[in-house]
Amino acid sequence: MIKQVTVIGSGTMGNGIAHVFAQYGYSVSLVDVNEKALQKALDTISKNLDRQVTKGSLTPEQKEATLNNIKTYTTLSEGAAKADLVVEAATENMAIKLDIFKQLDEIAPAHCILASNTSSISITKIGSVTKRPQQVIGMHFMNPVPVMKLVEVINGYKTSKEVTQTITALSKAIGKIPAEANDYPGFIANRILMPMINEAIWTLHEGVGTVESIDTVMKLGMAHPMGPLQLADFIGLDVCLAILEVLHTGFGNPKYAPCPLLVNMVTANNLGVKSGEGFYTYTPGSKELVVAAQFASKG
Ligand code: NAD
Repeated sequence: MIKQVTVIGSGTMGNGIAHVFAQYGYSVSLVDVNEKALQKALDTISKNLDRQVTKGSLTPEQKEATLNNIKTYTTLSEGAAKADLVVEAATENMAIKLDIFKQLDEIAPAHCILASNTSSISITKIGSVTKRPQQVIGMHFMNPVPVMKLVEVINGYKTSKEVTQTITALSKAIGKIPAEANDYPGFIANRILMPMINEAIWTLHEGVGTVESIDTVMKLGMAHPMGPLQLADFIGLDVCLAILEVLHTGFGNPKYAPCPLLVNMVTANNLGVKSGEGFYTYTPGSKELVVAAQFASKG
């Protein structure tokens, strides 16, 4: 029976995952090495809950109860010692994740399921650094977590059927719709999405179209709610680059090689919404598009 959920990493995804579990009555420990990230996460959760209250999908009392269900910690030993489930949503970096899972294996109770929200890192690899690979699984939420229904449930090579069933049932219990995938680079979602985003960046890089024309074609022509360049800004260009590198290395196929423009933008710290500038420019604290001027004249 899962009651106590620990979420590791309180960035874009971690705050949303904590929000949803807390809203559904789970006791949540939110852990981040960065104290400021924790404070920012609580502010974001509170603002997002306010939006739900304004829309009438939550009462002010439910908002308070949700916030009261979340406690914050800066160390795993404090945050994960009593967990029934851990959902790791720390930075998309293999060394960081392996280190976290090695520590979790020592700290978390024996029955605890260890899930990762990784976009692309092998669940089998993550499981292999623990003594409980049958209890390691992918629980891949979509951004923004409180809004998006999908949870991609990823079976590592040794993940047990019972654990998959538990996580599938849990995903439904928090209002999500699970879809199962096996553990190969990019799973289902990013194996299909990231080559499309990369191709959109190549299309821009080669001057075939402007940011606006590329996104307009995909929105109006393919009925996508958001163009691929805007979506890349929302995901984070560093996250997109990391996923493409995993696909490129994992399949050894040059078709996944990241576009040099993406590499340059990440090197220059133009990471999209989170840094204020990507393919579009964003005003601080807002996700509203301002302009995509820096690319408009490259054709
Ligand atoms: P982010 O950069 O917004 O946040 C990562 C957080 O992890 C930061 O606050 C950082 O301080 C914290 N962190 C780093 N090392 C840590 C450690 N050792 N212990 C605890 N906290 C640590 O990243 P994000 O976009 O939220 O991505 C998190 C995970 O979710 C990644 O694996 C990513 O691939 C995945 N993901 C991201 C998206 C997306 O749209 N951004 C979608 C699905 C999945």
